[in-house]
Amino acid sequence: MRALSGKCWLAGQCWLAGAGWLVLGELNGDYPLPMTRVLSGVQPSGVLHVGNYLGAVKQWAATQAESDAFYCVVDLHALTLDIAPDDLRSRTLETAIGLIAAGLDPDVCTLFVQSHVPEHTELAWLLECTASYGELKRMTQFKDKGAGQESVRASLLTYPVLMAADILLYDADEVPVGDDQRQHIELTRDLAARFNGRYGETFVVPEAAIPKVAARVMDLQNPEKKMSKSTGTPAGTIAITDSADEIVKKVRRSVTDAETDVRYDVASKPGVSNLLEMLSAATGDDPYVLASRYTSYGPLKNDVADALVALLAPVRERINELTADPGEVTAALEKGADKAQAVASVTLRRAREAMGLTQRRIS
Ligand code: ATP
Ligand code: MG
Repeated sequence: MRALSGKCWLAGQCWLAGAGWLVLGELNGDYPLPMTRVLSGVQPSGVLHVGNYLGAVKQWAATQAESDAFYCVVDLHALTLDIAPDDLRSRTLETAIGLIAAGLDPDVCTLFVQSHVPEHTELAWLLECTASYGELKRMTQFKDKGAGQESVRASLLTYPVLMAADILLYDADEVPVGDDQRQHIELTRDLAARFNGRYGETFVVPEAAIPKVAARVMDLQNPEKKMSKSTGTPAGTIAITDSADEIVKKVRRSVTDAETDVRYDVASKPGVSNLLEMLSAATGDDPYVLASRYTSYGPLKNDVADALVALLAPVRERINELTADPGEVTAALEKGADKAQAVASVTLRRAREAMGLTQRRIS
C-alpha cells in the first residue's frame, strides 16, 4: 500500500490519492494507518479450477482479514463469449459458492456480483472515452480469443476497460491476480493516470499483486497454455469440484517430456515445472528444493496428486454443503452488493463531475 502515515488535519471522511477512503477519528489527531483496499474478480465462465485457486483465490482468502477486501463474480465479463442464459445464471451462484468454499468469508470481505452494482458499466463507458482503440486491440487476450474474426463480440475488445472500471471504482490499492492479468492491470494503471492527468486527481492508481509461485498454472495436457475455465482441455483442467480419483487420473496422465530428470526449468520443461509449482504452492516448499527430492516423474506425480487431493477435499465438501442450501450465499451476495455500491457510487460521482457531466438537476 502506498504509505500514508502521521497526522491529518481533516476530520470525517477524506479521500486522498493512493490512500483510498479513510474514516478519521479526530481533528488534528493520530489515526490508524488505513487498511490496504483490495479488489479482484472471477468470471462465472465455468467451474473454478486449481489455477484460479492457487493463483488467486488462495491469496484472497489468506489476506481478507488484514485488508479492506472486495471480491466479485464478474458476470458481465462472461458475456464476452457466448454463454447460455441458464448457464450464466447457475454459474454465477456456483462461482460465489466456490469462492466461499475456498475460504472467502462474506462477513470479513465484501463479496458481490458485478452486475448487481450498475456503477461498473457506467464507469466503463467513461473510461472507454479515455482509452484508445489501438491499446485495446493490442491486448493479448483479445488477440488470443478473437482478433481477426469479424463476428467476435465487440465486448471482447472493450472488456479490459470494464475491468479497469471494476478496480478503479473501489479505489483499490492492490489487485491480487494470476500472471495472465498483468497486462490488464497495466492498462488500468495507464487509464487511471491518464484520466487523473486530464481531469484532475480522481482515481487511485493500483498495483498488481501476483504470487511468486503458481501465478500461471498450465493446462496438464498442454503445458504451453494456461489452465482455463473456458478454453482449457477437460483432461488438463483440475476443477475444484473434481473427485480424488479424477485428480489422481489427471495428474498421472499429465504431459511432461521425453527426458527423465526432474528439474525446475519453466522454459525447457514446462510440464514438470508446472507440477513442481503446484506442489510448491500446496506445500510452501521452494520448487527448486522440491525438484532435488525426485529422480523420476512417477513419484513426483503421486505427490502432486496427493497434495491436490488433500487441498481440495475440504473445498469440495463445503461446496456440497452450500449447494444444498444456497440461501445463505444469496443473502451474503445481496449484502455485499449494498456495501460495494455505497463505495462505487461515490467514486462514480467523482469521475462524472471531473469530466463535466451534470447531475439530473443541473446547477
Ligand atoms: P476464462 O478462461 O473464462 O478466462 P479463467 O480460468 O482465466 O477463465 P478468470 O475468471 O478469468 O479465470 O480469472 C480469475 C482469476 O484466476 C484471475 O485472477 C486470474 O489471473 C486467475 N487465473 C486464471 N487462470 C489461472 C491460471 N491458469 N493460473 C493461475 N491463475 C489463474
Ligand atoms: Mg481468464
